[in-house]
Amino acid sequence: MATNEEVLLKVDHLSKSFENVHAVDGLSLEIKRGKIFGLLGPNGAGKTTTVKMLLGLLEPDEGEISILGLHPERDEIELKNRIGYVSEEPLIYKSLTPKELFNFIASIRKLDGEKVTQKLAEYLEGLSAIEYYERLISTLSRGNKQKIQIIAALMHDPALLIMDEPLSGLDAKSVKVVKEILELHTQRGGSVLFSTHIMEIAEDLCDEIAIINKGQVVAQGTVAELRQRANMLDEKMDLEDIFLKLTDQDESINHIVEKLRATIY
Ligand code: ATP
Repeated sequence: MATNEEVLLKVDHLSKSFENVHAVDGLSLEIKRGKIFGLLGPNGAGKTTTVKMLLGLLEPDEGEISILGLHPERDEIELKNRIGYVSEEPLIYKSLTPKELFNFIASIRKLDGEKVTQKLAEYLEGLSAIEYYERLISTLSRGNKQKIQIIAALMHDPALLIMDEPLSGLDAKSVKVVKEILELHTQRGGSVLFSTHIMEIAEDLCDEIAIINKGQVVAQGTVAELRQRANMLDEKMDLEDIFLKLTDQDESINHIVEKLRATIY
């Protein structure tokens, strides 16, 4: 019987370089069952490269990955049945309608028709997606394509949902509904790996956060633990300040702001 503390995903000293760029550099982390884990870092920190290695889309140079005790490349098919993936850019079949896409997924994944129909109806209503259910995906806005992608990733009740910047492009109401969907998913024992460059989103949504910079974890813990650490460094520091400081963005921001002020005023 699974417990809440069961580790669902374990990454150990993962590294990947592209020519002379260390995109991911000795990264280690663990995600427990029933938790939302945030991979937080600025542009180019190595988030997408990490996600691609977890999905078996990129081969690591070094390190170990274990998801539900399975290996991304050796157990590719079985893992595909246990993981749901939402990419940064919607990668779904644009020549289909959402209805056709969901039917296609239900048939290749051999999902229970009645259960799936009920679940789809709830998601479509919650995300206000019914009105374009029978329109070609290619004609939908970016945010609406993203909603369809999120629903498609959840149809088979994956144990682990991997989402690469999934909320960019969504309106405020949809962000709220997606958050609710993720809460439900974790309450049922599922886990989520969530990548973002926005501290506020990570703080709002994640049980645990790993802040990464230049491919390395520079801080890891629950929001409360990170907040405490920020306070210990400087009472006036909030979580956003510590994120900017740990990812070397604070001085560059001050410099840019000063330059802008000098130019504009
Ligand atoms: P963003 O928030 O902008 O999406 P990220 O944290 O997802 O960034 P990655 O896309 O993983 O960052 O990129 C990490 C580093 O690896 C960057 O310096 C990037 O230029 C480099 N990189 C990623 N993919 C390749 C590639 N195929 N060839 C060469 N360099 C790459």
